[in-house]
Amino acid sequence: MIADRIAIVQAAIAHACDVAQRPVDSVTLVAVCKTQPVAAILAAAGAGIRHFGENRVEEANPKLVEVNAAFAEPLTWHMIGSIQSRKAKDVVAYGGQRRFGLVHSVDDGDLAARLSRLVMERVAPPLPVLLQVNVSGEASKSGFEAAGWESDADVRQRISDQVRVVAGLPGLMLRGLMTMAPIVDDMEAVRPVFRSLRLLRDHLQQALGQPLPDLSMGMTDDYPVAIEEGATLVRVGRAIFSG
Ligand SMILES: *Cc1c(COP(=O)(O)O)cnc(C)c1O
Repeated sequence: MIADRIAIVQAAIAHACDVAQRPVDSVTLVAVCKTQPVAAILAAAGAGIRHFGENRVEEANPKLVEVNAAFAEPLTWHMIGSIQSRKAKDVVAYGGQRRFGLVHSVDDGDLAARLSRLVMERVAPPLPVLLQVNVSGEASKSGFEAAGWESDADVRQRISDQVRVVAGLPGLMLRGLMTMAPIVDDMEAVRPVFRSLRLLRDHLQQALGQPLPDLSMGMTDDYPVAIEEGATLVRVGRAIFSG
């Protein structure tokens, strides 16, 4: 049952918060429902989920309209997948309305500028976003390149400059950072990646002089460790929807 799987994930989140001495409401569970049918999403909402993540805007938009119409309470939708530039407009609005409460996957400066421009053209309030950062240096991962930032002053300067430009875009509200950790067997192996993202966030807050409260990190295989390292948003798919 989906409700049982959600209860297990919520208990694991509570335990990780306990270990980290963080309040349990400092972590938002985003149920990643890509490829899931409307019925499964409604079952998850019925079992208490209020935040859903999708990775393809063309799949997400029609589905979220249907789910919103069928569910009595407001739901928050998160865009977590890579966004092609020609689809950026569908992330900013669909059917004349803003649909996504947070975009986690702003992975380069051109996309950020495009999203900001589209928001300004619509005279809409700033779109809340996270910047996707590649801290592990894996070549397969997209995002702002930050591998080695702790030891390399040039990398540190470059990423600070890039983030400062995005923070200044009038159509975006920069809320923090997101990362995709490498896939490994042992979740302890990714702890340094999560820690590096948190420390980079701390550094950027200082450098920019503005709060960056959100850290989106951790998926089914590693969300407890991500919470111990400071995640405020965990993106969990399989642990909720498959089994
Ligand atoms: C699919 C996906 C997730 C969820 O992964 P699970 O391993 O199913 O928990 C998280 N983040 C992104 C960006 C995804 O595409």
